[in-house]
Amino acid sequence: MRFCPRTVPWIRDPPDPAGTAGHKEGIYIPDLEYTGRPHIGNTMTEGKEIASELRRLVDRDIAFMHICGTHEAAIARTGLRSVLPPGLSIVMGPGCPVCITPQGEIDAALELAEQGCIITTYGDLLRVPGSKGSLESCGGDVRVVQGVHKAAEIAAREKDREVVFISVGFETTAPTVAAALLTSPPENFSVLSCHRLVPPAMAWLLSQGEANLHGFILPGHVCTVMGYEEYEQFPVPQVVAGFEADDILLGLLMLTRQVLKGEAQVENAYPRAVTREGNQKAKSVMNRVFVPEDVEWRGFPVIPGSGLAIRPGFSQYDARKKFGITIRHVEKHSACICDRVLRGIAQPTDCKLFGKACTPQRPVGPCMVSHEGACRIWQLYRVKQG
Ligand code: SF4
Repeated sequence: MRFCPRTVPWIRDPPDPAGTAGHKEGIYIPDLEYTGRPHIGNTMTEGKEIASELRRLVDRDIAFMHICGTHEAAIARTGLRSVLPPGLSIVMGPGCPVCITPQGEIDAALELAEQGCIITTYGDLLRVPGSKGSLESCGGDVRVVQGVHKAAEIAAREKDREVVFISVGFETTAPTVAAALLTSPPENFSVLSCHRLVPPAMAWLLSQGEANLHGFILPGHVCTVMGYEEYEQFPVPQVVAGFEADDILLGLLMLTRQVLKGEAQVENAYPRAVTREGNQKAKSVMNRVFVPEDVEWRGFPVIPGSGLAIRPGFSQYDARKKFGITIRHVEKHSACICDRVLRGIAQPTDCKLFGKACTPQRPVGPCMVSHEGACRIWQLYRVKQG
């Protein structure tokens, strides 16, 4: 039988995302059922057993980072941190594509709206603050779409208007956008590419060492497209993990075993979806349309080769070239610590605005806006602690 996260029967009240209530008051044990994924030593068939093995093994402080908002949502929703041994921590990284979109790119989208373009994008991006407001409040013609194809359909219907798709996302969404541009969309359609690539950000994080990490939970969705061979360049423990609680626990156990043995390799705890080579067709489509470029991330400086520019052969669909848009660096002027949260050196609850001046209803920073943002996720699953 397949484990469904929504039907996990909790022994106690719902968990807090930080897991601190669990450590203070006893642990929460999710009653996980076997899901058909590979066993560890043919014995670890349930989340409970994996959590128990982790508690037996972890004899020191160990920190693993995930780079995926969906992982954080799964961890918080299931209260997974509360079943971990006190020495083992899961740190959030720059895994929310909306959150890492810098103010300069939001400002570029606002500039396009000011020029009279129809702006199309995902709903999560509307309330992300730029330096002069957000797309939601700008007064322009801003429309939420489910994807790039819907945006191209609007361009086909409204031929007398310019339609720009603000395209955010990692390697998971870029191939779809590339595929749309390969189908010769209408001339009045273009894309503002705000895509990011995960491995260059990992390289930056490792070069800085500020988060004191022992390994990475690799993003299952990104690796479904890209595979994991690119990650073999990094000399740290890494495990590709899926998105159910026992997927993540299994990934943590594999990482912990690497740390204790002094190993550093890439392992795959998500073989039902991920292969080493990934989806070759999707990668090929993405590479035909996009080329890596140096870009800034919110909370990070310019990271070499971490963005995706539209290749010159498709420049008629490149909103930056079509409308003469320059992406500028914008200095941060608020108490928001999203930059530190995204670099794994702070938690949402470290922010003095969390849950007070900054809430999902009145977000101050992007991490409280997006469904993949750590602050919004923690606010959603937070429980009162005694
Ligand atoms: Fe930024 Fe709000 Fe999160 Fe604080 S709680 S880091 S202001 S998004």
